Amino acid sequence: MKITEIFKHQKQTFSFEFFPPKKYLTAVKFGINAGQLMKLHPSFVTVTYGAGGGTQENTFKLVNLFQNELDFVCMAHYTCINATKEKVDYDMRTLKDMGIENVMLIRGDPPGNEERKPNPDGFDYGSDLVEFVANNDKYDFCIGAGAYPETHQEATSSEEDLDNLKRKVDAGADFLVTQMYFHNRYYWDFLDRARKKGINCRIIPGIIPITNFKQIRKFASMTGATIPEDIVRKMEPYQDDKDAIYELGLDLATEQCHDLLDNGAPGIHFYTLNKSRAAIDLYERLSDEFRTVRTRYEKSFTPRIPETNMLKV
Ligand SMILES: Cc1cc2nc3c(=O)[nH]c(=O)nc-3n(C[C@H](O)[C@H](O)[C@H](O)COP(=O)(O)OP(=O)(O)OC[C@H]3O[C@@H](n4cnc5c(N)ncnc54)[C@H](O)[C@@H]3O)c2cc1C
Repeated sequence: MKITEIFKHQKQTFSFEFFPPKKYLTAVKFGINAGQLMKLHPSFVTVTYGAGGGTQENTFKLVNLFQNELDFVCMAHYTCINATKEKVDYDMRTLKDMGIENVMLIRGDPPGNEERKPNPDGFDYGSDLVEFVANNDKYDFCIGAGAYPETHQEATSSEEDLDNLKRKVDAGADFLVTQMYFHNRYYWDFLDRARKKGINCRIIPGIIPITNFKQIRKFASMTGATIPEDIVRKMEPYQDDKDAIYELGLDLATEQCHDLLDNGAPGIHFYTLNKSRAAIDLYERLSDEFRTVRTRYEKSFTPRIPETNMLKV
C-alpha cells in the first residue's frame, strides 16, 4: 500500500525508522527490538540506505522482509550519491519487482570527509533524483524526501534551502520527513515558512528521544541539529548516569510529541536507532493521543497498548 493511501485515513501517523544491522549479534538484537515495536502497529516503517556504512543489499533484504514476510507498509530509503541513472533505474525496478510501493529519495553524503563529486551520468541533488523517479510511470512510487527545520548544513541561507525544498516537492515528492531536531520551535517556524513558500504536503517531524546524551551530541553535530542550552544544562551533569539520562530524555521527548500531536502535526516519525525501549515507553505515554486521533479517522482501529511486561531491549 502507498503511504499516501494511509494518509487518507490517518490524520496523524506514527512510523519507525530502522537501519540494516551489519553483524550477526546486532541482527539478533534487531529482530527482538523490531518484533517488539511491530506490536505497536506503526502506520509504516522505513529502512535507511547506506547510512553509517550499511549496504544497499541489506536495505533491500530488510525492506523485502518487512513488506513481504511481515506484512508492514515499508518505505525503502534510497540515496543517489555516485550512482548513475542506469543504476538508479535498475534499483527502482528491483524495488518495484519486490512489491515496494514507497521510496524515500535522498541525495546522500560522500563517505568520511570526502568531497562530493556528482557522477556526470547521475544526479546532483535530491530534487533531481525525485524528478527522475516521479517522471517515470513504470515505477509509480509514493515518494518521500528529507527536510531540514534548522536548514541543511550546505545551504548558504534558510531561504535558499526552502527554495530547493520547494523544487523537490514540485518535482514529485508526496511528503517530507524532517531531520532530527530537539526543540519544536524549529519545526513550527519551519512549517510556517514552508507553507508561505507554497510547500503544502505533509511534513512529518522526525523525533529521536535522547537516551544517551554523548551519542546524541555526536549525531547532532553530524546532522547540524542544535541541542538547546536548557537541555544541555539539564542533561550534562547526568551524562554518565544512564538511568537519569533515560528518564530526562523520555520526559523531553514526551513533551515534544504531546505538543506536536496536540497542535496538529501530521504524526511522528521515530528515529529508533534499532532500539525498542524508548519508542515503546514514549508510545505508552502518548497512547491517549494516538487513540483519539486514530479512532477519529480510522473507525476500525483498535489501539494496541503494549503490555507493561513487554520486553524492551
Ligand atoms: C528523512 C531523512 C532520511 C535520510 N535517510 C538517509 C539514508 O537512508 N541514508 C543516508 O546516507 N542519508 C540519509 N539522510 C541524510 C542525507 O543523506 C543528508 O542529509 C544529505 O546531505 C542531504 O540529502 P537530501 O536529499 O535531503 O538533500 P538535498 O535536497 O539534495 O539538499 C542538499 C543540499 O543541496 C541544496 N540543494 C538542493 N537542491 C539544489 C539545487 N537544485 N541547486 C543548488 N542547491 C541545491 C540544499 O539546499 C541542501 O543544502 C536522510 C536525511 C533525512 C532528513
